[in-house]
Amino acid sequence: MNRFCIAIIFTCLATLSAAGESAPVSAIVGATVVDLEGKSPLENAVIVVEGERIKAIGSAADTAVPAGAEVVDASGTWLIPGLMNMHVHYGLVLPGKMAAELAGESEAELALRMAAAARASLQAGVTTIRAPGDQRHGELALKKAIAKGQAHGPRIFSAGEALAITGGHGSKANTTYHDGPYELMKAARLQISAGASWVKIMISGGIATDGGGIAEALMTPEEIRAVVDAAHRFGAKVAAHSGSPVATDIAVDAGVDSIEHGYFLDRKVLRKMRKNGTWLVPTIVVSQPATQPFFERIGSPLWYLKRRDSVGKQHWRALQMAIEEGVNIALGTDQLPSEPNDGTTATVREAQYYVEAGMTPLQALRAATIEPARMLGADDEIGSLAAGKFADIVAVDKDPAVDIKALRNILLVMKGGRVYRNHLPQ
Ligand SMILES: [Zn+2]
Repeated sequence: MNRFCIAIIFTCLATLSAAGESAPVSAIVGATVVDLEGKSPLENAVIVVEGERIKAIGSAADTAVPAGAEVVDASGTWLIPGLMNMHVHYGLVLPGKMAAELAGESEAELALRMAAAARASLQAGVTTIRAPGDQRHGELALKKAIAKGQAHGPRIFSAGEALAITGGHGSKANTTYHDGPYELMKAARLQISAGASWVKIMISGGIATDGGGIAEALMTPEEIRAVVDAAHRFGAKVAAHSGSPVATDIAVDAGVDSIEHGYFLDRKVLRKMRKNGTWLVPTIVVSQPATQPFFERIGSPLWYLKRRDSVGKQHWRALQMAIEEGVNIALGTDQLPSEPNDGTTATVREAQYYVEAGMTPLQALRAATIEPARMLGADDEIGSLAAGKFADIVAVDKDPAVDIKALRNILLVMKGGRVYRNHLPQ
């Protein structure tokens, strides 16, 4: 049975169960649960799921399978929390052929394209994403539709639309710019009012547009501080696109919560991030060789490829140093979570790169699960497998805490107690 058939069946099952009454109870049995704290794994485990949440988790010897529970036999597999990807633009449009094909895309077309990417994310084992700036609030509509069961996709934490300054990253025709503390504060509040729980600011230049140098600090300290103050007063967090050590230094002092990409970060600013608990979302996959076929596929123009190549080596070095310095790292790709890369998905390839850059497999697994949950301030609900938390569970056929490549074979995906992918051996 191919993936498409499976998706159809689960859509039908979902419709049926939505019409049912009491919360369904299921139990995943026979698998080994990976311990994210590095302790020995829980063998022959039972995870009891009631409705959307984990009701109980323990060894088969002391955890009973409730009568009438639907049993999922996952013998021989390893269970981990659903993967998280903290840098996803479902409405992503990149320069070249891709942009030409999507020129004039209507809101309806955009919404459907985003919904397809959200379904594919679940198939890739990704049960939570953060959208640090997307298009026309499509991801906020998608989040609502997913919550209502009208669409299937990960939990979405969104920044609404990214805030750009005149001439900076994101410069293109018909873009709204915000300049000065007042305009940026107002713009941040507008995003929060639309449903954003993060605010995204472009504080240095970037790869995908030629607005300003990637290593330059383009947004002023006053502007950054104004956004952070406005966001934090509403309980929202701030993500800053930054390739620049100078811009990052200013952002960390201003209390920005996460730095995106960090292409040219140096040891001095990384130490400051570590000291302040500032998060780094590396999106390393974008600048490394694994994504070359992707950029060819979307018909990237030469100037774009050159700009990308110009950051590759230093981006890699910055990631290595961030790992050495113990900076908080949460996985993000800046590609669709399911985007094919090097025989796997962007999400998994990103995690593999973390190991190649110096993380242990367990650290990389944490960067894809509990660490993003901590960054989101949602670790009481998601990011690990424990009673009371959402039943966002993935099964793989090896222990990813020993070999991160285990993530290449996603056998089972459950989100909120519902199975969206089941490739368990029958
Ligand atoms: Zn991005």
